[in-house]
Amino acid sequence: MKVKHIDHIGIAVKEMAQAKRFYEEILGLKLTGVEEVVEQKVKVAFFPITDSEIELLESTQPDGPVSKFIEAKGEGIQHIAFRVENLEEALQELKAKGVRLIDERPRKGAGGAKIAFIHPKETNGVLVELCERD
Ligand code: ZN
Repeated sequence: MKVKHIDHIGIAVKEMAQAKRFYEEILGLKLTGVEEVVEQKVKVAFFPITDSEIELLESTQPDGPVSKFIEAKGEGIQHIAFRVENLEEALQELKAKGVRLIDERPRKGAGGAKIAFIHPKETNGVLVELCERD
């Protein structure tokens, strides 16, 4: 599998309007967009930095994964995403190696990316996302 770089870091926040102030006003990053991913019950704000991104994640539903994460662990880093060249191939390789996956097949993520999550039991508790973009 070819991992190119860290694509983004997903940070779970209760209130995006409040949370984004730190990134905009203190770090001086530029917010390039906000997108709702209905399937994931989440609203995502993008702050690109070099070839990576900070993504603030605010739940749109009390039963969404981000909401559940905050309930269990509080606000904070929810996942790390690695950019791969070919997600289908990467998933085949992981399956062949017996790595447990949350997503056996790519699905649609924010920003038009193809994404899949690896089970955190495989990664010392870190939710790892693999992501492919055109
Ligand atoms: Zn992500």
